[in-house]
Amino acid sequence: MIGGLGMQAKLLAFIFCLAALGLYTAFRSLPAPTMPGHVARHAPRIIVVGSGLAGTAASLAAAEAAGPQARVVVLEKEARPGGNSMKASSGINALTPESGDSAEAFRGDTIKSGGGLSAPELVDALVGDSQDAVSWLQSRGIDLSGLVQLGGHTRKRTHTSSRGPVGFSIMKALLDQQAADERIQVVTSAKVDSLIHENSRVEGVAYTAADGSKERLLGSAVVLATGGFGASSQLLKKYAPQVAELPTTNGPWAQGEGLAMAEQAGAVLMQLDQVQVHPTGFVDPADPSSGTKFLAPEKLRGVGGILLNREGHRFVDELSTRDRVTRNITAQPQSQAWLLLGSAAAAQFGPALGFYLSKSLFTKHDSLAASAAHMGVPAETLAAEVEAYNAAAAAGSDQFGKTVFPATIEPAEPVHVALITPVVHYTMGGVAINPEAQALDANGVPVPGLFAAGEVAGGVHGANRLGGNSLLECVVFGRRAGANAAAFAQDLAHEPAEYVV
Ligand SMILES: Cc1cc2nc3c(=O)[nH]c(=O)nc-3n(C[C@H](O)[C@H](O)[C@H](O)COP(=O)(O)OP(=O)(O)OC[C@H]3O[C@@H](n4cnc5c(N)ncnc54)[C@H](O)[C@@H]3O)c2cc1C
Repeated sequence: MIGGLGMQAKLLAFIFCLAALGLYTAFRSLPAPTMPGHVARHAPRIIVVGSGLAGTAASLAAAEAAGPQARVVVLEKEARPGGNSMKASSGINALTPESGDSAEAFRGDTIKSGGGLSAPELVDALVGDSQDAVSWLQSRGIDLSGLVQLGGHTRKRTHTSSRGPVGFSIMKALLDQQAADERIQVVTSAKVDSLIHENSRVEGVAYTAADGSKERLLGSAVVLATGGFGASSQLLKKYAPQVAELPTTNGPWAQGEGLAMAEQAGAVLMQLDQVQVHPTGFVDPADPSSGTKFLAPEKLRGVGGILLNREGHRFVDELSTRDRVTRNITAQPQSQAWLLLGSAAAAQFGPALGFYLSKSLFTKHDSLAASAAHMGVPAETLAAEVEAYNAAAAAGSDQFGKTVFPATIEPAEPVHVALITPVVHYTMGGVAINPEAQALDANGVPVPGLFAAGEVAGGVHGANRLGGNSLLECVVFGRRAGANAAAFAQDLAHEPAEYVV
């Protein structure tokens, strides 16, 4: 009995030794323990804050760059992803050699429109990547086959979708592809409150989850893509009080929360006083004083829409820069103007016009004379104005300096008319970044672990953004931010633990 127990004890001891050896061997094959250094604090994970075009492009690019092991988490405060990117309605720019375009021309137009305040190295990246950015979208099944010339551009280079509003077309396709990618997790109703900035770098975010609980998520790098502050009356009053009372085209989410977060983590903010007022927001006849307005997209003027004051007279080159058109509308009675589309322009604008008709933002009339009655101007005044416009189109220039006439107006054919007024539309300033989309501190040094892209970043557009350059900026710098965040995470994972404790 005693001998039997001894045998059992020896057997148990042997099994124990084998198990211990197995555990030891397994333990040796694991990466060295690294607590409390950078590596062991969290596995390589890229956190993207915001699910508009910049954040979505960043998440897809991060997954592409990091490969099968990628772990990307997108945190979005709204219940639905998409941000202002979903609302974009004119187009996205790309260098377009077929229309006589060149890098110098595109760069020159962007810098000129920005009044010399744009960072040239960011504009170079924007223009240099533009063809690849649009090809990247097209390779994902997005139709961008239309081409128009928007205000301030000297060439046709704004690509539009013939399948509907451009922002919705782009975002629907990208969000679907993002949802199908198992490496990317999108968490909605998760409002990021601050960045976790420890060990001299950004290491994650603190956020409020859907149930109100306060959470922390650690990661190797954070991409800030929280958009602009065009709906924050508080920030507009602070940085651009002259426009704070205007209505806005932005969704209520555009509160600029990313700015304070970035600043607290050591990044510097720039040009926050540069706020773009878009000349044409629809005045809704059912709610004319509403503080939020649908944008009358620039494409409406790009296809040949003209502007007339309440007396029925033209007063500006409709295709000059947004700031110039805005100044001229603001000088008109009630800061309002009529936007009038002839039949050729309406046909070129396409089916999206139906949306504005359904909202009664546009009205359609059988002829120019019928539209004059709606506008409350004498029919002969309107007829004379349109006749002069058509003659200027034939001659190739008019008294306001207009030299591009996308369409003439046929008085006997149907005419679309809308009342418009200037609206806060876009905030050019934001987090300072370099061309690699790294957030910069006051000395121009990257804040480790922090990247920024899209409207939350500053420096690309200077004093005035060209139409179509924002969606482009989102794709160019979103992709750069995502790929560089993945590379940064990879570098951290390769750091020997003992060096980072
Ligand atoms: C009506 C309209 C039409 C436009 N048309 C065009 C156009 O035709 N061409 C063009 O180039 N540009 C256009 N623009 C501008 C362009 O759409 C935007 O500048 C661009 O889409 C901004 O993209 P983004 O990804 O930076 O931000 P957004 O698309 O606004 O996304 C930011 C996201 O971040 C989320 N977020 C914010 N704070 C937090 C937080 N604390 N925590 C978690 N999530 C947060 C927001 O909810 C939002 O979903 C238009 C803008 C508007 C409003």
